[in-house]
Amino acid sequence: IVSRKNQPEDTLIDVKGTVIGGSSQVMIAGPCSVESYEQLRTVAAALKDAGIKIMRGGAFKPRTSPYDFQGLGIDGLKMLKEVASEFGLATISEIVHPDHIDIAGQYIDIIQIGARNMQNFELLKAAGQASIPVLLKRGISATLEEFVHAAEYIAVSGNTQVMLIERGIRTYEKWTRNTLDISAVPLLKQETHLPVLVDVSHSTGRKDILLPCAKAALAAGADGVMVEVHPDPQTALSDAAQQLDIPQFQQLWNGIRESGLFK
Ligand code: PEP
Ligand code: MN
Repeated sequence: IVSRKNQPEDTLIDVKGTVIGGSSQVMIAGPCSVESYEQLRTVAAALKDAGIKIMRGGAFKPRTSPYDFQGLGIDGLKMLKEVASEFGLATISEIVHPDHIDIAGQYIDIIQIGARNMQNFELLKAAGQASIPVLLKRGISATLEEFVHAAEYIAVSGNTQVMLIERGIRTYEKWTRNTLDISAVPLLKQETHLPVLVDVSHSTGRKDILLPCAKAALAAGADGVMVEVHPDPQTALSDAAQQLDIPQFQQLWNGIRESGLFK
């Protein structure tokens, strides 16, 4: 279903009037985790000012350690809904359990399936029953073939509103958290008709090389970029080292627009 051979035209995904795929690009930004109304409102106001339409924020956090912040769960999704409607934004948040796919539709506009769950086939099948779009993240050690097959699980279960996002893969390199596989972008665009995005925050785990990585993604044909933004990254409950503060985000966003690569 997701193969370019099956459908030569790009899939276009309309999220509250913002079209993802085709001839324009999208920027998705927001905190790693939803932490509080104040945190979310501060980010939402900055995004609205910058003309960003889609805010991210994790409520169910798949953390490496069980002792780390696990997210606010459904309460976090409710906070996203309230703040998004205040600021006129659309939202995306990760869902980790098949039972929460239905509930997600009440609170958010896009379901994110995280890297750690890329091959959670029951979750993929459940996401295939959802009536809202799904953003599928590439698994930490997934080949592109495995990634495309995971997308196919969602599509064959009935939901063809699927987007792919390269978020870095595990290699021996230590200067970045993961290795951004830029070749994934043209290959996935060639092999599938789905929108392909790049998460510059989780792929690099850094703040200092996001502009060149975002430009590389867009130059390679990406349909969008995702980045983590927090009002006070030092105090963030997750991914403190990689989240941009608001002035840093504005600088990145200006740089991307000035590059002429973002249409
Ligand atoms: C995230 O985007 O919140 C996240 C946990 O990323 P990943 O699944 O790519 O690690
Ligand atoms: Mn994160």
